[in-house]
Amino acid sequence: MKKLIKNANIVTEADMYKADVLIDGETIECVGVDIECADSEIIDASGRLLLPGAVDVHTHMDLDVGFTRACDDWTSGTIAAACGGTTTVVDHMAFAPGDAALMHQVDTYHALADGHAVIDYGFHGVLQLMNDSKLEEMKQIARREGITSWKAYMTYGDNMIDDEWLFKILKTAADEGLVIPAHCENDALVELTKAELGALGKLQAKYHPLARPADAEAEAVSRLLHIAKAAGEAAAYVVHLSSEAGLKEVIKVRESGQKHFGVETCTQYLALTDEAYSDDQEGLKAIMSPPLRKKADNDALWAALARDGMIDVVATDHCPFTFKEQKQMGKDDFRKCPNGAPGVEERLPIMYSEGVSKGRISLPQLVKYCCTEPARIFGLYPKKGAIIPGADADIVVFNPEAKHILTIDDMHGANDYTCYEGFNLTGRIEKVFARGNLIVEDNVFLGSKGAGRYLRRGISSLI
Ligand SMILES: [Zn+2]
Repeated sequence: MKKLIKNANIVTEADMYKADVLIDGETIECVGVDIECADSEIIDASGRLLLPGAVDVHTHMDLDVGFTRACDDWTSGTIAAACGGTTTVVDHMAFAPGDAALMHQVDTYHALADGHAVIDYGFHGVLQLMNDSKLEEMKQIARREGITSWKAYMTYGDNMIDDEWLFKILKTAADEGLVIPAHCENDALVELTKAELGALGKLQAKYHPLARPADAEAEAVSRLLHIAKAAGEAAAYVVHLSSEAGLKEVIKVRESGQKHFGVETCTQYLALTDEAYSDDQEGLKAIMSPPLRKKADNDALWAALARDGMIDVVATDHCPFTFKEQKQMGKDDFRKCPNGAPGVEERLPIMYSEGVSKGRISLPQLVKYCCTEPARIFGLYPKKGAIIPGADADIVVFNPEAKHILTIDDMHGANDYTCYEGFNLTGRIEKVFARGNLIVEDNVFLGSKGAGRYLRRGISSLI
C-alpha cells in the first residue's frame, strides 16, 4: 500500500513549503498540494516539519583502534543513527593491520556492516603506508566498489600521509574525480607537545586540548588546500574543522577563488567547549581529536554556518567508547585514552535546538548542512538528501514545538554516556522513514537488523 503524508511543512535546503508526499514502496512518487490517492495509508503531519532523512558522512562504527574497539557495532550504531533522524551513514574505515592492500579494509567493512546495518551505508576508503600500487588500487576500487572518497590522515604515526604522498594522492584524485577527506593536524606540533607534557607529568584530561592546539589544525588545513590547488584543484575535504584559527584559513582560501574543496565541522565543535576537560574524570568523556575548543571557536563556526558558502557539512565523527571501562584507560595518562565520543544520535536534535531554535542558522541551512550537501559531496544525491520525486523515501517527521531533556537513558547506542547530558532541547523527532519503511516512532526503533543496503557512490559535486 502507498503511503501519503498530508499537510506537512517540507523543508529543503532553500526554503519551506506546505505540501503532501506520496510514497510508493521505497521511493517518493510525488510531492504536491492536495494529492489524492485511494487505498493509501494516510499519515497526518499537520504542524510538523518534514526533513529529508539526515546523512552523516563521518562515523566510525565498530572502529578497531588496535587496543580496543568502538562500542557501537554496525547494528547498535545505526539504530542510534536512525533514532536521531539519520538514515544514511558514510563511515570512515579503521587503519588496516600492517601493510595490507587497500582492499583488505573494504572486505573487512563489508563483513562488519552487511547484514548488520539497519540503515543504508557507504564507506570512505583509508590511505596509509602508501606506494604506487596502492594509488593504482585506489582507482580500481573506486570504479568497482563505488568508493569515491579516500581519507588521508596528516597525523597519526606510521599511518600519516606526508606532503609528498599527499600531493601524489591529490593529483590522482584530480585525474580520477575522487574526493580526499583529510584529518588536518600538524603531526610534529602535536607529537612534540604531547611528549613535552608527558615529560612534565601533565597527563590529566585537561592537558589533552593543550597537546592539540588550534594552530596545528590551522597549519594543516592551509597546507592541504594549497597542495590540493597545486595538484590541479583536487577535491580535498577538510573533516571535523574545530577551531576559529582553522576556519580563518578556510575563509582565506575561499576568498582566493579556489573551488572544488569541501569543509565539514561536527556538532561537538559547535555545542561543547573545553570546559568539558576541567574535571579529570568527566574530562575523559570528551577526549577526541581534534579536541573541544573555546566558546569563541563555537561562535565563529556558527557564524560561518549562518554565512553560506564557508562550511559545507555538519557531521559527527561518532566514535564511542564506554566511560566506565574504555575511557578509563586514560585515567592516569590522557595519551592512552581511546580518542572519540558518541554523537550520531544527537546531531539532528542538537542542530535544531542549538542552531535553528536559538536563531543561529535557518531551517533550510539545517537541511543543507545535515542532509543535502553531504549527499551531494559524497555522490549520493539525488537518491539521498532531499524530499523530491524519485528519491528514496527517507523522511523525518519533526515536531518543532516539543521540549525534552536529552539523557542517555532515552538513547539507543551501546554507550553509557552522552556529551550532551541534560541539554534542554526544543523540537523532537516523531517518526523516521527509511526507504518508505517506518523505522522509528516516538523514540522506539521499529526497523530491522540487516535492512540497510550498501551504497555504491557516484561522482561528487565538488568535482
Ligand atoms: Zn573521524
